[in-house]
Amino acid sequence: MHTESPQGTCVLPLETIPCPACGEQEEYKQVAKRRDGLAIVRCRCGLAFVNPRPTAEAIPEMYANYYCGGQGAATGYVAYAPTIQSLQTSYPWGWELIAKRATLRGARTLDIGCAYGKMVYWMHRAGARATGIDLLPDGVRWGHGHGLDLRVGTLDDLAGDEQFDVVTLMDVIEHIPDLSGFMAKLGKIMKPGGLVMVQTPNFGAYRGPRSIHLHTSLEHLLYFEAASLDGLLRRHGFEPVTPTSAYCVIPTELPEREISPPVSGLRAVMKRLPVFARLVQVKRRFFPLGNRYSEDATKTAGSTIVGIYRPTLPIAGGEV
Ligand SMILES: [Zn+2]
Repeated sequence: MHTESPQGTCVLPLETIPCPACGEQEEYKQVAKRRDGLAIVRCRCGLAFVNPRPTAEAIPEMYANYYCGGQGAATGYVAYAPTIQSLQTSYPWGWELIAKRATLRGARTLDIGCAYGKMVYWMHRAGARATGIDLLPDGVRWGHGHGLDLRVGTLDDLAGDEQFDVVTLMDVIEHIPDLSGFMAKLGKIMKPGGLVMVQTPNFGAYRGPRSIHLHTSLEHLLYFEAASLDGLLRRHGFEPVTPTSAYCVIPTELPEREISPPVSGLRAVMKRLPVFARLVQVKRRFFPLGNRYSEDATKTAGSTIVGIYRPTLPIAGGEV
C-alpha cells in the first residue's frame, strides 16, 4: 500500500543547490510552488528547477514511494508495464522524428532510461545495434528476457570506449540530479556526427497553479522549455539539427477497440472472437500504431518538447 504524505508537506531531507545547468548561485526567482510544497525557481540561464530539493541520499526514497504527493501506480513507473504486444505493435514515443533524421541500419544506438526496451526493440527492428540502460531492474530484466540488449546502470556502467551514432533520452533528462556531470558523459559517448534526441515535458506550457507540472510527476527535478533545453545542450557542445519545438502528443497508442468506431450486429460479435484479437495483433506487427506529434502552432503550448542535436566539439583526446 502506498503511503501518502499530507499535501504540501515534503518529508524528505532537502538541500539548496546552485543552478544545475550553469552553476550560478544566486537569489533565484520562485516561479511556482508544487503540490508537495517544494518551490520551482528559475535561473537567469532560463532553466527552472526544484530548489531546495531532496538530497542525493533521499532521491532513491523519493522514487521508492514516488514522492510526497503520493501518486502511486497510475502515473508511476508501472505505467510502462510491458506486454509483448505493446512492444511489437506500436511505435515508441519520438520514433517518427528520429527515424526520419537518422540512418538506423547498422547504427550503434543507446536509449537512456529504456524502461522495458521499446525504443531498443524498434531500433533493433530498423537494423541498428541497439542497447538500452535503465536504473530500475524490472523492465531491463523483462526486455533482456525477450532478447534485447538492456543493462541496469548509468552511463558510468558502459564500457570505456563505447560510442553511439544515435542516443535517445525520452522523458529522462528532467530526472537527472547531476546534470552537468551527465551532459559531460553524454558528450563522450557520442560518435562524431551522431544524433541525440531529447524529449521532456514542456514547462513553457506552465499556466499557473492548476498546471499539471505542479500536481503530477513530482519526482521531476528540472523543468525545461525549448530555449533552456537548447541552451543546456549548446553549453555542452551540441547544436540543434532542427528547431526545437513544443508538440502536442496525439495518443494513438491505444487498444484497437478504443480507436475504432463502435460497430453493431454481426461485426460486433466477430470483434469479440479471440481470433479477431489475434488478427489485429498480426496486422499491427506490419502496420504499427504510434504516438503522433502535432507541432504546436505557437511553438510553446504543447505538452512536450523534442529536440534533436548533433555534437559540434572536436573529439576529446584528438590532439596531443
Ligand atoms: Zn542557470
